[in-house]
Amino acid sequence: HERLFGGFSKTSSRLGDNLGGLFGKAQLDAATLDEIEEALIASDLGPATAARIRERLAAERFPLGLNEHALREVIAREIAAVLAPVAKPLEIDAFPRPQVILVIGVNGSGKTTTIAKLAHWLTEQDYGVMLVAGDTFRAAAIGQLKVWAERIGVPIISGAEGGDAASLVFEGVRQGTEKGIDVLIVDTAGRLQNKAGLMDELAKIRRVLGRLNPAAPHNVLLVLDATTGQNALSQIEIFGREAGVTGLVMTKLDGTARGGVLVAAAEKFGMPIHAIGIGEGIDDLRPFDADELGRAIAG
Ligand code: GDP
Repeated sequence: HERLFGGFSKTSSRLGDNLGGLFGKAQLDAATLDEIEEALIASDLGPATAARIRERLAAERFPLGLNEHALREVIAREIAAVLAPVAKPLEIDAFPRPQVILVIGVNGSGKTTTIAKLAHWLTEQDYGVMLVAGDTFRAAAIGQLKVWAERIGVPIISGAEGGDAASLVFEGVRQGTEKGIDVLIVDTAGRLQNKAGLMDELAKIRRVLGRLNPAAPHNVLLVLDATTGQNALSQIEIFGREAGVTGLVMTKLDGTARGGVLVAAAEKFGMPIHAIGIGEGIDDLRPFDADELGRAIAG
């Protein structure tokens, strides 16, 4: 997990400096605890988790004397404890076929790339996958998804720019059923004229799917961009409520991304986190691992 780089690391030298003054002591002092709590909040962890970690650290005894490693261990453990209940692998049921995964998220979040990664990941597990280019508002999105489909070697249903996404989804399920496809992954628009328009569009797709099969869509994945920090929280709030999100995928957790927002999200919404994106390549999707992110954030 060297490629995961939590926002917390920015403050690591400050943490280390403070600890130098505490050398040999068995407990953290109030000023250092304040600094740590601030650093945790600055890392997007959210005030509730930051306060709890502070309390936990205040109660912790370091019988061998304080050191940065021991401190980070406690922080990593506490973060992992918050994340563990929401770390859930994406589940693909055996029936009915095709299972429908609706993928939603604002433009630029990494939605198209995530669909490609997911299709590749499922194909590797011998699932028969088909894509539906349901973001009919962006010609570029349709084109990009076609390129990915070709590269991965999966069929794709697409129409003209400005076409009706719900009809495309209908066609996807029809052809998917006919061809014995296991998983249908549906791209959706990331932005319309306004929020109400976007939600109407998603609702219409869900209605069409629900008419074909009451359980569909079987998964509604919300793709979030880790580099947007706190913005991700408002997206969960809006899409979660109105679009029936069943799970999250956090992209761009490579580089200097701030994974801390996932902790705040877990605390606030308790929504399953399925996977993370750690790069632009087809193999850069990982199942979400609470311990791993805990360690990455704690540094
Ligand atoms: P969409 O508009 O939501 O469909 O977003 P795209 O899939 O086109 O992605 C937007 C940009 O983010 C592209 O340049 C992608 O290569 C990039 N991207 C997507 N996922 C990741 C990721 O996990 N890490 C990094 N570093 N870049 C990503």
